[in-house]
Amino acid sequence: PLFESYDIFSRSAGDTSDVVTKEMYDFKDKGDRHIALRPEGTAGVVRAFVENKLYGPEFNKPYKVYYIGPMFRYERPQSGRQREFHQIGVEAFGADNPAVDVEVITMALRFFKKLGLSDLRVAVNSLGDQESRANYRQALIDYLKPHYDELSEDSKERLEKNPLRVLDSKDERDQQFVENAPSILDYLTPAAAERFDQVKEMLDSLGIDYVVDATMVRGLDYYNHTIFEFITEIEGNELTVCAGGRYDGLVEYFGGPATAGFGFGIGLERILLVLEKKGIELPIETGLDAYIAVLGDEVNEAALSLVQALRIQGFKAERDYLGRKLKAQFKSADVFAAKALITLGSSEVESGQVTVKNNQTRQEVTVALESLKKDFPSVLAELGLA
Ligand code: ATP
Ligand code: MG
Repeated sequence: PLFESYDIFSRSAGDTSDVVTKEMYDFKDKGDRHIALRPEGTAGVVRAFVENKLYGPEFNKPYKVYYIGPMFRYERPQSGRQREFHQIGVEAFGADNPAVDVEVITMALRFFKKLGLSDLRVAVNSLGDQESRANYRQALIDYLKPHYDELSEDSKERLEKNPLRVLDSKDERDQQFVENAPSILDYLTPAAAERFDQVKEMLDSLGIDYVVDATMVRGLDYYNHTIFEFITEIEGNELTVCAGGRYDGLVEYFGGPATAGFGFGIGLERILLVLEKKGIELPIETGLDAYIAVLGDEVNEAALSLVQALRIQGFKAERDYLGRKLKAQFKSADVFAAKALITLGSSEVESGQVTVKNNQTRQEVTVALESLKKDFPSVLAELGLA
């Protein structure tokens, strides 16, 4: 759903995350419920996963889902940052095998490669398990406490509630401390460290270039173990286009059985921005398969029936609706980049024979109107258009 109970997001993302403290579009509905427009996809997916018992034995594991849709964040609008934007997200539930981490990262990478974006920096880190985090949390507090007065107001609060969040600060006052902060990787338990080693080895074995960024913590609280981001540079600015990680505690948190989870979110508008800046045009075919030139009002219904028949066969077809001169209709066929041009007048309807033209080569075939309605592919084949 585009909106959920406010708590679904605030409790899972964490009440010190920017998303919750500053960026939520929340309101009371007519029933006085505290509602929020979704700022991200994972919390709602996990809520639905638990509510519908998708962890049950009748479902294959890992249970995999994806979504594409709008997200809402009350941010300062700027390039690459909208208040309503779209994400493509995936989640895989029920396997804590590090191979899943690597497969999901690889899938996202392949998606970007397919778009022609291959110069991405792949940053990975591990947040470890609960014990690793508790150890690190203390080390971070010990390190940051002496600098308390120099931190930003937000980070002062974060230091009390969730010190890891300081590492995610975009405030310049905090940056110098982030740079020299102790590394979480030094506080991983042996099991968590071993797990992270496996992830890195598997990434190596697939030939994936990545960097370990020990200060990356991600903006949402629910992550553990592997987290990752894909970063690209646009006019000297770094832009994260994909981000995700493991969230093994989240299903349990929402009242389900302990279930592993791994997923990512891709910002669609950011992809479009990057494609535009890099001058990449996607090979999207928008041309029509057929344009029907309509000669006279008396064949209006015949044209209606023909255009429907072509569409039902799965073709992109258009026709004239405006009773324009033939020349103007032919022009439309060109603008639509129609492959085939069909001219329909009362003589065609009477004889039941129509002429179909290859709009590029001008080659023509005359076929029965009825067979055109049933089997357009063989007409296209005859014109060398299949
Ligand atoms: P950032 O550090 O850029 O604020 P984030 O950590 O808030 O990103 P996530 O919550 O991980 O971002 O969201 C996943 C992806 O969604 C981001 O990598 C980005 O591509 C996109 N995204 C996040 N916020 C916005 C926004 N306001 N407008 C457009 N895209 C966004
Ligand atoms: Mg953000």
